Amino acid sequence: MPNAKHGLRVDLRTLILVLCALTALVMLCASYFASYRVQRQLLIDHALEANRVYATKLAAITETFIGNALQQLSFSAEVQARQLNDAAALQAETARVLSQSMAFNSTFVLDADGVLLAISPARLQHLVGSRVHTPGVQEALQARRPLVSTPYVSVANNLVVALSQPIFDGDGRYLGYVGGSLYLRERNILNSLLGEHFYKDGSYLYVVDRNRRLLYHPDSQRVGTVVEGNPLIDQLASLSSGTRQLSNSLGVQMLAGFATVPSAGWGVVAQQPLAQTVMPLSHLVLNVVGTSAPLALVGSLLLWWLAMTIARPLWQLAAGARSMDRAGTAERLHRVRAWYFEAAELKRALLFGFNLLQERIGRLNRDAQTDPLTGLGNRRGLEFSLSLLEAEGRAFAAVVLDVDHFKRINDSHGHEVGDQVLRRLAELMRSCCRDGDLLCRTGGEEFLMLLPGAGLEAAAVVAERLRVTVQDTPLAPVGAVTVSLGVARWDGAAGSEPGEILSAADRALYRAKQEGRNRVVIA
Ligand code: GH3
Ligand code: MG
Ligand code: MG
Repeated sequence: MPNAKHGLRVDLRTLILVLCALTALVMLCASYFASYRVQRQLLIDHALEANRVYATKLAAITETFIGNALQQLSFSAEVQARQLNDAAALQAETARVLSQSMAFNSTFVLDADGVLLAISPARLQHLVGSRVHTPGVQEALQARRPLVSTPYVSVANNLVVALSQPIFDGDGRYLGYVGGSLYLRERNILNSLLGEHFYKDGSYLYVVDRNRRLLYHPDSQRVGTVVEGNPLIDQLASLSSGTRQLSNSLGVQMLAGFATVPSAGWGVVAQQPLAQTVMPLSHLVLNVVGTSAPLALVGSLLLWWLAMTIARPLWQLAAGARSMDRAGTAERLHRVRAWYFEAAELKRALLFGFNLLQERIGRLNRDAQTDPLTGLGNRRGLEFSLSLLEAEGRAFAAVVLDVDHFKRINDSHGHEVGDQVLRRLAELMRSCCRDGDLLCRTGGEEFLMLLPGAGLEAAAVVAERLRVTVQDTPLAPVGAVTVSLGVARWDGAAGSEPGEILSAADRALYRAKQEGRNRVVIA
């Protein structure tokens, strides 16, 4: 049942195909994954760097603004130093600075004791003359130098950052300071500077002071609050700019770039959500897959063709090996195009084995049909020859032959000599007939000659010639030996059996014995 067994196994072509498909799939997935990772990292790096550059730019703008504002206040401080006792002039100057620079929400002058001397806009003038104790004022009075204050709640109840310049007289005595404030929770120069750069992709920026207090944030509720547990803000103190991936106060992964404003000690942070940044990736991967799909298809077809071409000779050789017993196997094996080494070796081995097998079978067949003593055909050989003649419907004559008184030879000379006589007799038979005649030893000392195509007369002539030859040829050490022969003929006609002719020849032989031996009788 080689077929049943074969059916259980996967063939080489399938194996190669599966192997190729798996390899291609793994390679494809690996390259997709690699390209995804690389692209993702590129996007992240790019976003981080863009945010850093952006934060740096805004920090520089803020720095410039602070520098300009302090410059204006410095000029104003010199003006106010000369007119400190002139309330109207003081007021006019604060109004001038406020309207001219557009940098401040309010401008004011305080004396060295913290008493408000003048303030703009006009709606705050009711505060003039009062002594101010807010932390920002205390900070400025103590510092006595150009200052950007920490955020504090002003007398007008605004969360402010104040920029200030000290006022000194000609002798260098401290007289107070001029200041400008930014209302952090209202529209101010800072948020109009920063708030306009709002992106749609969820990116935003915020500004903290050196105490982590938010000076600007798109969510205005958070302005003035202190940011806790943000590793990036911890870094602000030590670096002038940088990048960081972190999760924001809502737990959203963010890509942040930051930069510091040196004069104020502020930090500007620009950030965007990671998810939004890498969103184009899915599109990108689809694009890659779409682009590579036709190539992969062509590659697959090529692999399939290659697998077929590799497997074909082996498959054909296997089919040949499975049907060694069928006709035409050698031709089929010869026709296999074994185009690579292993297949060629297999083909060679198969053909070699097949030829060996054929040769062995042929020899066995010959041995099985040959009489070992005389080398003539045996009964099996006779039957085979008869079946061929019958199949061809070819007429033939049969000459049956029996040694006369053979028992006596055996008795007086021994069995060995008897065998020798039989061998010599076989030689004489060969010498008396033509190529194509079939000679058999059918029994102990009984022989048969099949003469294909011969008529009765011709067969009788052959029989007679043989009889005379045997009679005239002394076979040492026995001497003269004679044989009796019976002749019959089969005409090849359908309906009659060749076996009947052999019986007829046997009967003729019997008559020859009856009639005195050493003679030929025709049926
Ligand atoms: P007839 O003239 O009537 O044929 O007399 P015969 O003695 O030949 O009688 P028969 O044919 O009955 O005897 C055959 C003898 O041949 C019997 C047996 O001893 C001998 N014989 C049979 N086969 C062999 C053999 O293979 N070798 C030898 N040496 N003798 C055989
Ligand atoms: Mg006999
Ligand atoms: Mg005999």
